[in-house]
Parts: sequence; C-alpha cells; structure tokens
Amino acid sequence: VPASPTHIANTIETELLQRVAAAVPSHGAGRVADYIPALASADPAAFGFAVATVDGEVYGTGSWLAPFSIQSIAKVFSLSLAVARDAAAVWGRVGREPSGDPFNSLAALEHASGIPPNPFVNAGALVVTDVLREMTGDACGAVLDFVREESGNPTIGFNAAVAASEADNGDRNAALAHLLASYGNLRGPVDRVLDDYVRQCAVEMSCRDLALAGTFLARHGVRRDATRLLSRSDAKRINAIMLMCGVYDAAGEFAYRVGLPAKSGVGGGILAVIPNRCALCAWSPGLDAAGNSVAAVAALDAFTTMTGWSVF
Ligand code: GLN
Repeated sequence: VPASPTHIANTIETELLQRVAAAVPSHGAGRVADYIPALASADPAAFGFAVATVDGEVYGTGSWLAPFSIQSIAKVFSLSLAVARDAAAVWGRVGREPSGDPFNSLAALEHASGIPPNPFVNAGALVVTDVLREMTGDACGAVLDFVREESGNPTIGFNAAVAASEADNGDRNAALAHLLASYGNLRGPVDRVLDDYVRQCAVEMSCRDLALAGTFLARHGVRRDATRLLSRSDAKRINAIMLMCGVYDAAGEFAYRVGLPAKSGVGGGILAVIPNRCALCAWSPGLDAAGNSVAAVAALDAFTTMTGWSVF
C-alpha cells in the first residue's frame, strides 16, 4: 500500500526530530529553578520537543505531550493580546530595549523612573498584565482562552499550587509592583495584579500546546481559524522583541547559536518562531547560568543547524 503524502511528511519530520533529540547530549544538565519551591521537584532529565507548522501540522519527540510550567513564556501571549487590543496603551508604559539586568531587577526600574525596559522582564510583564486586566478584567483568563483555542486543547489551566508557591515567595515581584505603582505605572490594586501575574506564570502546557499556540507569530499575526490577532507589523515587532529580549541576558549567544526569536521560562521551556514556517517548543527543566534550559537551547541549535532555517 503506497504511503499517503501526510504519512511521508510525518516520517520525514519524525526522523528529523529524532536526530535533533539524539544531538542533545545534555538532558539532565543544568540546575532546576528552585526560587519558586514548587518548581524544584521537576525531573531534570525530562525532555520534549515539538514543531507546529503554519499549516496546522504538529510533530514532536520525547515528552512533547507532558504539561510543564510555562512561566515567562506566558509574557508573549499577554503582550500579544494587549497589543492586539491597543498597542499605544502598552508602549506608553513599557520600553523595547534589552535591559542588560536580571529579569527581576529593581535597579533598572528605579533608574528609568518606573518605565520597564521591555515587556519580558518581570516589571514589564506586570505592567502588561495591568493593561490587559484593564481591558479584560482577567489577564490570565484572556491568556487561557487564547492558548486553549490556538492549541485545540480546552483542558489547559494553571497550577494553583505553583501560583501559591510563587506568591508565598514573591517579595521581589511585590517590590517591583509597588515601585511601579509609586510611579503611577500600575493602576490596578497591586495584590490583584500580582495574583493575575503568578497565575499566568503557573499555566501548564506541553511542547505540543505551546508550539501550536505560538504559530500565529509564524503566520505574521494570523490565528489558527484564519482571523487576524495582530497586524503584520505588530507580529514583526513582537518577534523582534523576542529576538532582543526573550532569553534574559543570553540574547547574543542565543542568536548566535539558534538565530530565532524566542521566549524562555524558568520552567525550562523555550518557544521559538520561524516566520512563514513553524513555531518550535523545546523543554527540559535544567537551566544554565543565564536561566535558559541547557537541553532546550541545544535542541533548537541542532534543529536550526540541521534544517538551515533561521531568520538570518
Ligand atoms: N514566575 C517567574 C517570576 O516571576 C517567571 C520568571 C521567568 O520565567 N523568567 O519570577
């Protein structure tokens, strides 16, 4: 029986993904984030990788269906949803420059009189959460609606224990939120904004779900159902901010090795975008000194090297 074209495509993709997984010698390398106690129990050897194409196909290898804590990857979705509704409301209150400071730095915020350097450091994400709350009443709810729709997985939710663990150990984020409020750049009640922020970080998704949910950025802003979330310009801009600010202070090394817009989280996931082609998600909980997953960076490096696909 001749194999169908879809079957052949699947085989090619599966072989490629197996080669990517085999090229990652570092499963288990790095340190699992433990400043949020509920994350410390993650298995450092876990590894997953998924590719979702602009046509809606999705392929994966390893534990690509296992949900994990998306943490700062949520910042891509909340930013996109806020920009889609009113870009000026965001850019009047947050900058677009890489910071050169840690993602939870207070010093940068004080020096800039309460304007966070970009939407992917925590201070910037708190402002975006505040903006999206003003627009929707529930920023985490808006993110959940969106990622459920894009991934076709209505069971995606947030882990209340992880959110509570972060809230209990959230003095720095609380300090950032109060500093923002002191400059008039946080308008909702500080405790509500913080709660909405930690719930977004505690959303649990698999590599499959995240790759599918990120594909709108590879389609220049067009969603799975062919409606447009972002203008072509705004999709380009969000990809540009991911390239410059998405992987903490490792943007130079990441661009050198992988060459893609991406956003990482301390849960060990990285969502990356190849415009016109696909979105990728790699995950493994062990982090390098910059806070990016050692194995996820290695897998993305292998994928772009093997395929020759990048934005450069
Ligand atoms: N919830 C984490 C925090 O606010 C997210 C950090 C991250 O993934 N970089 O500290």
